[in-house]
Amino acid sequence: MAAKPLAPKAPLWLLLIASEGIDLLFFLFSFIGLEKQAVSRSSIERGIEVITPGILYWSQGLFMAIIWSIAAFLLTYFFLKEQRAALIVGLVFFSHWILDFIVHTPDLPLFFVGSPNVGLGLWGSGPGLIISGILEILLLSGGLFVYLYWRKSRPTN
Ligand SMILES: [Zn+2]
Repeated sequence: MAAKPLAPKAPLWLLLIASEGIDLLFFLFSFIGLEKQAVSRSSIERGIEVITPGILYWSQGLFMAIIWSIAAFLLTYFFLKEQRAALIVGLVFFSHWILDFIVHTPDLPLFFVGSPNVGLGLWGSGPGLIISGILEILLLSGGLFVYLYWRKSRPTN
């Protein structure tokens, strides 16, 4: 939503989809069985579901996130024929990885199998979880504010 004023020609729905693109790919890939988040057996027995690093490199890996972001740029450019909109859509797509990097415990692969998993792990602690919750609310309300302010101040056509 905050990116919309930067690229007025990019539809809002496209920017919203792009911002969640990596997770949408994850749902798609896990649905077709390409990816899975591994849940350890011992944790199931203890009645808690701990999600440990699985095979996430197709959607959540840094390398593929860059590839998908470039693909988002190219696709947007192909359909909208506007470089600015395409660039912003590509950057919004990639921004998901940056935010995931801040909050995820190290389960984001850099490349493919055997590559280091990264993540600063804000989610990993109690206070961190609260901070990330506050951060999400701030980002959401900030984005909404920027978008609504931009719409209001825009000359009507
Ligand atoms: Zn994500």
